[in-house]
Formats: sequence, structure tokens, C-alpha cells
Amino acid sequence: MNTAAELDAADPLRHFRERFHIPQHDGQDQAYFCGNSLGLQPRGVRAALMQELDDWSELGVEAHFRGKQPWMPYHESVRDALAQVVGALPVEVVAMNSLTANLHLLMVSFYRPTRERPAILIEAGAFPSDHHAVASQIRFHGFDPATDLITLAPDEPAGTISMQAIERVLAEHGHRIALVLWPGVQYRTGQAFDLKEIARLAHARGCTVGYDLAHGAGNLPLQLHDSGADFAAWCSYKYLNAGPGAVAGAFVHERHARAELPRFAGWWGHDQATRFRMGPEFVPTPGAEGWQLSNPPILALAPLRVSLDLYAEAGMDRLRAKSEKLTGYLETQIAQHCPQTLQVVTPAEPARRGCQLSLRVAGGRERGRALFEHLAARGIVGDWREPDVIRISPVPLYNRYADVDRFVAAVAAWSQGPAAP
Ligand SMILES: *Cc1c(COP(=O)(O)O)cnc(C)c1O
Repeated sequence: MNTAAELDAADPLRHFRERFHIPQHDGQDQAYFCGNSLGLQPRGVRAALMQELDDWSELGVEAHFRGKQPWMPYHESVRDALAQVVGALPVEVVAMNSLTANLHLLMVSFYRPTRERPAILIEAGAFPSDHHAVASQIRFHGFDPATDLITLAPDEPAGTISMQAIERVLAEHGHRIALVLWPGVQYRTGQAFDLKEIARLAHARGCTVGYDLAHGAGNLPLQLHDSGADFAAWCSYKYLNAGPGAVAGAFVHERHARAELPRFAGWWGHDQATRFRMGPEFVPTPGAEGWQLSNPPILALAPLRVSLDLYAEAGMDRLRAKSEKLTGYLETQIAQHCPQTLQVVTPAEPARRGCQLSLRVAGGRERGRALFEHLAARGIVGDWREPDVIRISPVPLYNRYADVDRFVAAVAAWSQGPAAP
């Protein structure tokens, strides 16, 4: 087995780390494993923001047309790069709003409950915002989450969900499910799902299918178009590194690009050719852009553009190849050096996970918190999920094999120290 230093030296993507600001701890780089929560700042972001501020100060309203990156078609460069990252056609994606807002806007169009078919299926333990969003949609339509929100419990020992369980719940309840809203990667367990297969099963039962890709976008090569999903939404501050509260993404499958769907409309979703005639009638722009409400926040899109440029340069396939190796390395080092302390919750098959490993600390909550504090005091940054899980996400754009060694060595030393049971 190669050492971390050898693996880092042989890593064809190692130079991308230099394109990011790495937070410091006691004069050295943190071992930052929290890209699942907030991705690091690309170094190019500051200049990109300054460019927009300069264009605004020097050109005023004219910057819509004469800025270095004119604001009027600004979203187009973001759109094409975004489509690449999630494996969609340009007409299928748009950068707008925030994740939860996009879920609501898309459910307005794609969750059309009837008395016979009122239900939404999500996973048990879904991210709270998703749970609130679907429950409130169900209530908004006059139905009752107590009966019409179906949550699928984990059936595998580690707390993950098998494809058979999804198949079973659809066989049993599919006839009354209007919408399946499913995660690309489950935020707590790190489990990745076969989006194409879930869409196929759900469509066969007459359900529409939407994906929450908060932990999938920028993490996995998603092939969203080929998945056949009706819609999807994601945030851009996690793996996409576009900064706190960054502009989120939305996907609407091409087959709905010109469909007459009910929607909550705004002027920026109006057909571009006639938008500025300012008429009262709404003619939607074909595709995902037809769901836009407002003119986009340029200052918030600038970091996303910078980040997507890095993705285009690195390539999602190369990033995924490194990610599988890096996370595999983390897994084998844990198995070798601290198997008594950490149990991997995330599936072992690379096809069923992204870069994140969710690690259950043996001995329960107090011991887990103690380990988490021990790591934080040494500049090793993961995140904590109650009651006893530490999430560690080695990100192929900026993490090194050496970071993994630092984490594993710190856990192993702690496990053998006075805190050991
Ligand atoms: C991060 C995350 C969110 C956050 O929603 P915002 O609207 O961006 O605040 C929602 N759902 C999931 C699954 C997430 O992982």
C-alpha cells in the first residue's frame, strides 16, 4: 500500500487545492472535511466579486449590457456549466433562489394531489427542511400529513435503505403516491441512491419523481437527464463551493420543457424574447428558466461561476475517480487503525456512496462528543450529527490523502489514550 505522501504526489488533481483558501489552525492548514456542509472558498471569488462591484460603480445600469460579464445574459454561463456538473441539458437547469424555495416552486408544478392519489413518499429521517416542505405542501392542498406523508424507514442494519425496500413501498402504496421526493445522497448516512432505477420504479406506479441533490451535486456524476427524474433541486454552498447561502439550482426534465404546467410565475420566467414588452400575459420561457421569478442576484452568482469553472477544468469524471480512491483510503485506514472506535455507517460499495463517510463513535454520545472536541482542538474539522455520528467528507478538489492520515492518527491516538474505555 502506498503512503499518503506517494498518493498525493501521484494525484493528477493535486494542484486544484492551491485554487482554494484553506482555513488555518495554529499556523497550519486545517484538515477540513466539512465540504458536505460548507465548501471552501475558491481563490478566484474575491476578484470575481470585485469585478461586479467595479462594473456597477463604473457603468451603473449599463453593466447589464457592457459589463465585463454582462449581467443580462449572466445566467447563461452559469447554466451551461451547471448542466455539465449534474449531467443535464442546458435547457433543463437554472440557478435561482435557495434549495427549499426551489423545492416548493417545483412541487407547485409536480405535486398535483387528488383524492385517490394524495401522498408524498420521502425517506424517514429526511432533512428537516424537506420534511417541513412536503408536509406543508400536503396541508396546503387540504390533505393530512398524518396519512398522506409516507416515510420509508431504513431496513439495513446500519440505518440505510435497500432498493428492495423502495420497491416494496411502491408496490404497496404506489397507487396513492403522487410524488416521490428522494435524496441523491442521504445527508445523515451518506448513502447514495440509484436515481435512474428509483425514477423507473416510481414512474411505473404513476408517481412523479423529484430529487433533492443537496449532497449529490458536485459530489457524484449524476446523469440527471438520463435518470428520467421529473425535477430536482440542490444548494450550491456544499460541494459546489459557491459560498454561504449561495444561489441554488433547479432541474426540470426536457420532456416538460414546453408542458403547460401550473406554476407560480414571475417576470424572469417569461419568454425572453418578449419579456421587456412588459405585457400582462405570462408566456413561459421553455425549460427550467421558465420557473424563475426574479432577475438574478449577480453578486451571489459570481462565486458560483468561479466554482463551476473549476469543475469544468477538473471534470466530474476525474473528480469522481479521485473521490472513490480518497474515500476508499479513509475507509481502509479506519479499518486498520481505529476499528474499535469508529463504525462506518455509509455503505461500503462505491456505487452507494459519495465522498462522505458517516462514522458512529463506539461508546455513545458522551464519548463521541469527546472525540469530536479532541479533533476540533487539533484543527481536524468534520461535523457532528446527534446522537453519535461524525461526518467526514474528503473532497477531491481540495483534500489530500495526508489530511486523511491526520484524522486517522488523531483518532487512533485518542482511542489509546486516557479517554479509552
Ligand atoms: C443542506 C440541505 C438543505 C438546506 O436547505 P436550504 O434551503 O439551502 O437552507 C435542505 N435539504 C437537504 C437535504 C440538505 O442537505
